[in-house]
This record gives sequence, C-alpha cells and structure tokens, in this order.
Amino acid sequence: MAGNPSQTRLLTQILVAFIAAVIAGIIFGPSIDVVQPLGDLFLRLIQFIIVPLIVSSLIVGVASTGSMETLGRIGGKTILYYICTTFVAVSIGLIAAFLFTPGKGVDISTSREVPEATETDGVISVLLNVIPTNPIESLSSGNILQIIFFSIFVGIGITMVGKKAEPVYYFFEGFAEIMYKITWIIMKLIPIGIFGLLAPIIGEYGLSVLLPLIKLISVVAAACIVHALVTYSFAVKTFGKMKPFQFFKGIAPASLVAFSTQSSSGTLPVTIKCAEDSLGVSKKISSFILPLGATINMDGTSLYLSVATLFTAQAYGVELTFTQIMIIILIGTLGSIGAAGVPGAGLVMLTLVLTTLNLPLEAIALIAGVDRFMDMFRTAVNITGDASGSVVINNTERQMES
Ligand code: ASP
Repeated sequence: MAGNPSQTRLLTQILVAFIAAVIAGIIFGPSIDVVQPLGDLFLRLIQFIIVPLIVSSLIVGVASTGSMETLGRIGGKTILYYICTTFVAVSIGLIAAFLFTPGKGVDISTSREVPEATETDGVISVLLNVIPTNPIESLSSGNILQIIFFSIFVGIGITMVGKKAEPVYYFFEGFAEIMYKITWIIMKLIPIGIFGLLAPIIGEYGLSVLLPLIKLISVVAAACIVHALVTYSFAVKTFGKMKPFQFFKGIAPASLVAFSTQSSSGTLPVTIKCAEDSLGVSKKISSFILPLGATINMDGTSLYLSVATLFTAQAYGVELTFTQIMIIILIGTLGSIGAAGVPGAGLVMLTLVLTTLNLPLEAIALIAGVDRFMDMFRTAVNITGDASGSVVINNTERQMES
C-alpha cells in the first residue's frame, strides 16, 4: 500500500525530477529542448501499452465480475460519481471566475487569426459511435470507448459460454499479467520522462508570454487545486474510507505524469498501476473505471471551460444572463465528456462553448498561446478525479461483498 518503500522512493525521484525540470527550464531556456528525446521515449513507451493493457485487463475484469447485474451496478455508480464531481468542478470554476475576474482589463485588441468553430456530432451519433463496426479497426486506431465496448462484450461472452471459453479467459489473464509487468518496468522511467517532457516546455515559454494572461492561468490552477483538495478529499474520505493524504500520495506519480504529458489517455497505464498498487483498488474495478474515466470524466477540463468562458465574456465586456450561465454549466459538462484525453482537447471544446453562447472566437487565439500551462493542471486533475472514483466504487463494492 502507500507505505511501500519502493513506491516512496519512486515518488521522491519523481518529485526531484519535477523540480530539476523546472529549474533547468528556467536556467537554460529554449536550449534545454535537447532533452526532449528522453520525454518522447517515455511517451512512446507508455503509449504503446495502452491498447493491449485495456483490452486484456478489461476482458478479464468483466469475465471475473460474474454477472451483468454487478457490471450494471458498477457502471451506474461510476457514471453517477463522474457526473457529480464534474458538476462540482464546473461550479468551482464559475465561482472562481466570478470572484477573481481574470478577463477584466485584458488587452484583446489583437490581430491574431480567428479560429474556425468546431463542428461536433449530435448526441445520437456520438452514442452510436461507441459501438465499433470493426473492432480490429478500433484497436488499431486506439478508439478507447469502442475498445471498452468490445472488451466488455467479450468479457460477458466468456461468462455466458462458460467452460468452452476458459482457454480464452486464461489467455487474456496471462496476457494482462504480462502487460502489468511491462507497465512496472516503464514506471521506473517516469523520473527521466518527466524531466524530458517538462524542462523543454518551461524552457520554451518565457515570462513575457505568460504574463499578460497570468491571472487566467492562476485562477485555473488555483481552482483545480481547490477542487482536487476539497472535492476528492471529501469523496475518498467519506465514500472511499481512505485518508486523503494516503490517496494523494498514492496517485501522485500518475498526477505528475499527467501534468507533464497533458494526456489522460497517455497516462492511463500509470493511473491503473498506482490505483492498484498504492490505493488498493481491485483489478476488476480499475480496469473498467479508469479507461472509462480517462475518456469521459474530465473535471479539470470542465472547470477550465467554465473559467475560460467567463474570462472571454469579461474581456469583451459581455454581461451573461442567468440562462447563459446555466448553459455554461451544461455545455462545460458535456464538452468535457466529449473531449479526448489528449493535449489541447479542452481548447478545441472551448470553441464549441463560445460558439453556443455567441461569444467572440478571437479569445481562443489569445488563450491558445498559454493553453499548455492550464492543460497541465487540468489533466492532472482529470486523472486524479478518475482515481478518486475508483477508490470510492472499490470501497462501496467491497462493502456489498462483505
Ligand atoms: N489534456 C486533457 C486530458 O488529456 C484534455 C484537455 O485538453 O482538457 O485530459
């Protein structure tokens, strides 16, 4: 569990790498990008394991869950938890933006290119798209929702067939164990990866780039931290029966990887490993809840969407009506569900929110220059939120079993 010395050692190494990256970035400036290949190496290593890890562990997880009823119950609780925390995150974002007015007095007289509004699919086609027409294609393109759908059905099929499907079950069980071992090896490289990813970003951006929007960045960062500390502490303590400190310490390696990669999907193998090894979440729960969370549960992104929308309204002196604020809550939530777990996805979703509210899209061009920094905070919160869900559901399921 959290007291494991090798995990504590890894966490210390990660923190040292994190601080070293910030210092090296500041000292060496853009020339520190020579270390970028180390970051890319790490990124490729955690990315290559995502699809085989999800498929094998989810099939085994579902097949060992036993019944459709249990699966439905876990799924229902997970969606409910994710929606509630996302709603809290949007609200914290709105309150912070109202209190600190990050958009007031911002110079928006820019000649930047105005981005195109994003076209989005209707709800029905988004839902239909979860069902793959060709699972092999979903696997090769890495469409996580379709992969989840396929794996759940294979798992259910294994349970229904029984004896004849046992070899398939054992095959995936063995395969999943292999994937866990590979993840374990890759975890050891996190400190190097974080250094290689973070130092070039810090080195590339000077203070002059950040300064004009420093208030926006600070409000997003502070609101993300408040949401994580307050909402997740409350949730894991009350419903997960875990000490918040133990939770944050256990998930910290994954949160810092998310911060450095700005990708929830890319961080997934580390999130799963931390949830199982440090937070004691069962494989059955983590293999289902965490891939789902990395794709649809993005508290940090929804919080960012609400702050950035209010920022735009404030910068352009637009008074928002009560109905418009309700719309922000709704689209902020939906937008975060629709955003992919990749860097910059939240910024794309922002075009959708601004278009719906008829706010000027020029703001996107302004925000884009510093979006990466806000992406760090929101992605770290996104995966910490997923992990908090796994702790809560794991505990409620354990209580039901006993
Ligand atoms: N980068 C975020 C993630 O991967 C999504 C976003 O841009 O908000 O979770």
